[in-house]
Amino acid sequence: MGRVLLEGATVVDRDGNVSGPRTVVVEDGLISAVAAGRPGDRRPDDEVVDCSRLHLTPGLVNLHTHSPMNIFKGIAEDATPDRWFNEEIWPYESKMDGDDVEAGAMLAIAEMIDNGVTAFADHYFSAERICAAVIGSGIRADVAPTLFGMAGDFSGQLEHASDLVREWNGREGRLSLRFGPHSPYTCSPDDLAACAVAAADLGVGAHIHVEDSEAQIAASVERHGKTPLRVVSDSGLMDLPLIIGHGYWILDEERPLLRDGNWIAVCMKTYMKLGEGPGRVWRRPEELPLCIGTDGAASSNTLSPLEQARTLALAAKYQERNAEAFPLKATWKMLMRGHDALPFGTGRIEAGAPADLVLWDLRRPNTFPAYDPLAALIYSADAGNVRHSMVAGRWLKKDGESMLDVGAVIERAAGRAAGILRKGKGKTYLEF
Ligand SMILES: [Zn+2]
Repeated sequence: MGRVLLEGATVVDRDGNVSGPRTVVVEDGLISAVAAGRPGDRRPDDEVVDCSRLHLTPGLVNLHTHSPMNIFKGIAEDATPDRWFNEEIWPYESKMDGDDVEAGAMLAIAEMIDNGVTAFADHYFSAERICAAVIGSGIRADVAPTLFGMAGDFSGQLEHASDLVREWNGREGRLSLRFGPHSPYTCSPDDLAACAVAAADLGVGAHIHVEDSEAQIAASVERHGKTPLRVVSDSGLMDLPLIIGHGYWILDEERPLLRDGNWIAVCMKTYMKLGEGPGRVWRRPEELPLCIGTDGAASSNTLSPLEQARTLALAAKYQERNAEAFPLKATWKMLMRGHDALPFGTGRIEAGAPADLVLWDLRRPNTFPAYDPLAALIYSADAGNVRHSMVAGRWLKKDGESMLDVGAVIERAAGRAAGILRKGKGKTYLEF
């Protein structure tokens, strides 16, 4: 692979600082140099990209999703969380097969690539089919095979997940695996502790749902005498690298439980859509390791981290009656923090860092004149502004076009979606 020269870009780094023009040299999957202006030492086989009208940022991270659920997008609308889980999603999922999972994951990956996502953290069953989709697509991902305590044979599930970790973790340098106990309300404390031991044995982390709804806290106190995050902490899971999906209702007294390597993936659009109420992440947010997730498309309909960050900032300003809440730089840093939660070393625009980058065209009607590129990105931009993107120096999107065969992805998903309606809903062993 020859070098790629991204010439003359305006750089927006992970802290939201703007500088430029810069030329970024990409070689063997890494950034090999960042130079001021437009250096003249081109080689004959260099791929030179004129970036003089583009803004260069690290790629976006979606730190909590269920990619296969893209196949359910729009199937359960205007439903309470109880109805959404128990009468819609879990009954449909009970009839889902591996081909549905892979088709949904590919659809999700196509959407994320369009939106400038270079890495995502996933949580779902039939995880080997997600892994196959990730490897085939060029994106990076951290995949957590979901484990349900209520499904029975937890040790069998754990053994299967361990096999998947051994088989796929580290594949092509683009895939990492971790354990995905669903939540402290579908897994017992013993199940969670067993997950922590298995993950520690294999040197990986975990990814779990905690406190997306306020009702879960009262139920946990009644059942275990402890709040949900305390249950998770006592299991040993928080001693590991841990992605906490949601953490939206985290109590003040639970905050000291968080340790280095624990991250909270907030998915604001889902909470608004499911009527989950105001949450508690607004209070002194700088104390919390907040990152951005999208949750699955069955609840949030889209997989755009930008849209989720925007929604969170807007909700904060509205909720707190404070226009200064979640200012641009803090919102951008929250979006970029997802890089730290994943084991790929991405997120920096400097020599030696993996070349996971997005080039934004802000000279479009929705974003121009972009006095402040951060304002343009956070409050105006969408997938149409993603001109180019790459993971490990390989193009995912070029000249506004995905490198995937998107028509084939849609065609395959169409067949599976028709099958899902034909199969209908099954019985579920889960209960929310
Ligand atoms: Zn989730």
